[in-house]
Amino acid sequence: MKVLVAVKRVVDANVKVRVKADKSGVDLANVKMSINPFDEIAVEEAVRLKEAGVAAEVVVVSCGTSASQETLRVALAIGADRAILVESKDGIEPLAVAKILKALVDKERPKLVILGKQAIDDDSNQTGQMLAALANLPQATFAAKLAIVGSKATVSREVDGGTETLSLELPAVVTTDLRLNEPRYATLPNIMKAKKKPLETVRAEDLGVDVSPRLATLNVAEPPDRAAGVKVPDVKTLVEKLKTEARVL
Ligand code: AMP
Repeated sequence: MKVLVAVKRVVDANVKVRVKADKSGVDLANVKMSINPFDEIAVEEAVRLKEAGVAAEVVVVSCGTSASQETLRVALAIGADRAILVESKDGIEPLAVAKILKALVDKERPKLVILGKQAIDDDSNQTGQMLAALANLPQATFAAKLAIVGSKATVSREVDGGTETLSLELPAVVTTDLRLNEPRYATLPNIMKAKKKPLETVRAEDLGVDVSPRLATLNVAEPPDRAAGVKVPDVKTLVEKLKTEARVL
């Protein structure tokens, strides 16, 4: 069984980004970039399936500039077998990524496609769902547990108020939630080995996908500063304030 995993290069989760002066986006100059954390979980899960003898090959794919090669090498160091860079400009929209992944699904014929539930830069939470729709595949999003038995995947997914368990016929699309696993640290020998693993580059146009944007960013702004706290003299005042001033989130 082949597993295809989508990995995105994003601003590192520990970086506090700053909005550009012209409010067109966030400033990415000299900012640390990393593999999207949910995608790291996706790679880990695929590698575990391989180690368990369920998957035969783990193929990782990233859409972006040549800088995304670094992200693919991280995935190869975790244990993926080969990588595909779909070269395009950075910041392509979820629909374009979903179309690219659909083209790769048609070509590679994986039994399972694993994506992160969302990219932490755009927080779209759309690509997996769009891919499932375009490729006409069953989907289980926000996976907290995944088991493959025969031609079926059983996925426990995190929903409001509990866990929902779905049984999907393979091939299928799964997106990862935080609790699915804890990704391993890539060891130095594996980082060295990853440098020699195959990394193929194709262009989005070669897959017949038009990646031109369909959305226009009107304005990007910093969140408002938090208002300073106030001290209340007693519990009665606190309760009163909570009743009258607390906003429902
Ligand atoms: P999003 O819908 O943008 O929140 O992204 C959800 C997931 O889609 C990510 O966690 C990745 O697995 C995948 N994805 C999004 N953009 C890309 C990209 N440029 N390259 C590879 N995978 C991506």
